[in-house]
Amino acid sequence: MSTTIALMGNPNSGKSTLFNLLTGARQHVGNYPGITVEKHEGILSLDGRELVVVDLPGTYSLTAYTADELVARNFLINERPNLVVIVLDATNLERSLYLVTQVMELGMPIIVVLNMMDEVRKKGIGIDLPGLSRTLGVPVVGMSARNGEGKADLLSAITQALDHPPAPKPLFISYGPDLDETLARMEAHIASSPLADGRIPPRWLAIKYLEQDAHILSLGERYPKLHAQLLEAVHTLATHTTQTLGADPEALVADYRYGYIASALRGILSWPVENRYDFSDKLDKLLTNKFVGPIIMLGVIYGMFEVTFRLGETPMEWMEAFFRWIGDSLSELLPEGLLASLLVSGMIDGVGGVLSFVPLILIMFFFLAFLEDSGYMARMAYMLDRVFRTFGLHGCSVVPFIVSGGIPGGCAVPGVMAARTLRSPKEKVATVLTAPFLVCGAKVPVFLLLAGAFFPESGGAALFWITLAGWTIALITARILRSTIIRGASTPFVMELPPYRMPTLRGMLLHTWERVWQYIKKAGTVILAISILVWAAMTFPGLPEERVDYWEAQRQSLQTQTWESSEAMEAALQEMEAAQRQEELRYSFAGRFGTALEPISQWAGFDWRTNIALIGGFAAKEVIVASLGTAYSLGEIDPDAATPLAERLARDPAWDRGVAISLIAFVLLYAPCLVTVTVIGREIGWRWAFFSMAFNTVLAFTVATVIFRLSRLLLG
Ligand code: GDP
Ligand code: MG
Repeated sequence: MSTTIALMGNPNSGKSTLFNLLTGARQHVGNYPGITVEKHEGILSLDGRELVVVDLPGTYSLTAYTADELVARNFLINERPNLVVIVLDATNLERSLYLVTQVMELGMPIIVVLNMMDEVRKKGIGIDLPGLSRTLGVPVVGMSARNGEGKADLLSAITQALDHPPAPKPLFISYGPDLDETLARMEAHIASSPLADGRIPPRWLAIKYLEQDAHILSLGERYPKLHAQLLEAVHTLATHTTQTLGADPEALVADYRYGYIASALRGILSWPVENRYDFSDKLDKLLTNKFVGPIIMLGVIYGMFEVTFRLGETPMEWMEAFFRWIGDSLSELLPEGLLASLLVSGMIDGVGGVLSFVPLILIMFFFLAFLEDSGYMARMAYMLDRVFRTFGLHGCSVVPFIVSGGIPGGCAVPGVMAARTLRSPKEKVATVLTAPFLVCGAKVPVFLLLAGAFFPESGGAALFWITLAGWTIALITARILRSTIIRGASTPFVMELPPYRMPTLRGMLLHTWERVWQYIKKAGTVILAISILVWAAMTFPGLPEERVDYWEAQRQSLQTQTWESSEAMEAALQEMEAAQRQEELRYSFAGRFGTALEPISQWAGFDWRTNIALIGGFAAKEVIVASLGTAYSLGEIDPDAATPLAERLARDPAWDRGVAISLIAFVLLYAPCLVTVTVIGREIGWRWAFFSMAFNTVLAFTVATVIFRLSRLLLG
């Protein structure tokens, strides 16, 4: 069996940084709670040993309030790592030791890493490391994971711990006379029952019963007699403490734990005199100020859009030109026919359309990485908490919202997953259901395309207003859901504001690259596959023989006619071919389906080509632009076959600003993409996943129809 080391700690304590330092593996480095939700594994070679290192999700406690905490705890209990390395933000020892005491109560072999010692020194805080190690009775290593400082100390502590494992001895914290007495009785019951499997200390289980830990309670339910005894003990105790101390056992456990920590830290910490007004605090006075803060926040978001567009324009044109060149070259090289059509119309146009947005997305993600890594994103969450509460959500909903596209360019897939940090299931469901209304990275190209074609003077502003609309509808919908089908009280805000940090260029680049790479991978695989499917649906079945013969006869007659000039004949031929292609497309599978929907979709101003694109967009929103491109280049009238889609739409008589806004609204709101729906199903249940598909599409169609009808009234 391999030797496993688990990395644990609060969010933002530097686990991932340490993980990278130990294993050399690449990994996401974020700066706000809730981003590390998956298990990351790596290998550390130490003295010829291959150690498996696992980066667990960030947790504040071992009480399984959130899915993250449950994941981390189950890993400790079920996988029994040989060693637990707990990473603490040493600038905030008191809070982070809370988790340490809980792991120590489990009796697991641990090493405590005090990370961010560079910041500790900068702030002038003194920490007596050997003293802390003596008090806690576990090895304590000071580190600065970001600079690699203290790595050698940690490695030798790891070697020491693995070579001479300490006898498992769960930490004993006294919870006061009342609790201790009940705990001892419960412990005895548990110890003589099958619930004690020799892995989890009975006292720890008893404490979890006091804390009303849902997961442990459900474990105990398997032994009805024991379960009843334990609940009875807890109940009697709760009645007693509520009467005498005015607090329930759960609160008392937390109080005593903090008491233990405070006494453990006595004489260990020394503070500089002027510590409270450090840089972060001073900056926060301004940035989270009640009046100035929100204004700065809006300014930051808006500035980001503007700069993104200014910088992104030129490289975007290069990419477009590049793909146009590939398409043209291929068309010349290959004989006309199915293969050329597949390559140029199915693949190059489809993937090229999506990839030409890479420069824009790259710049946008770079800004996003800066906001996250600097710590400003958490401030945005903090400032928006009150707003969120008004809509029945939680301050922590900001993270899923922003990740989903509250700042355009996110993705609802990680966004929905980030909602795991929400404690109340009702707020979680509301967040998950409404986050997909925001502007994910895959919708951005559609908006850019339409805004560029119909509102060319206002690229950045258009996206700003669309984002605002997304937020508004998400929040209003959340409010409505929370007052109807998911009614219930809200939970108080708990989210730490990490200190401001100057992000490293390397961290931001890595971060940006990972997201862009995800986008490209999606474009390269899913979108390529769907582009080909869409192409096939638009190409097959070919026209019936009699129609093929008809068009052939037309061609013949045009060619044998006498013409004033060869240009005139060319023009007539092209016109005929366009009509033929049009007929072919309409006759194709996709055309038939899109046409069948037309009687309904025309209420919102969408013709069969738009319908095709929207159907493809359900599979992945990135495909919308690609399918529109394919649809229009297949039905091409202009000989200059690769004219960018935007110009093509702007010239099309079937399109105008009314149609464009209606389509923007529909794309913003309709069913989340297939991957998101899958994630929603996994996170909050398939019932909700189907609900979100149906609900969002109906809402989208209603809004789009209203917009289109209004535009007909106004535009005449
Ligand atoms: P995780 O959430 O625990 O995985 O934390 P991360 O590894 O993502 O780190 C959170 C932030 O702290 C990042 O911005 C890191 O660059 C920063 N960080 C990590 N270690 C150190 C350190 O030793 N000193 C300082 N100043 N910053 C650090
Ligand atoms: Mg992490």
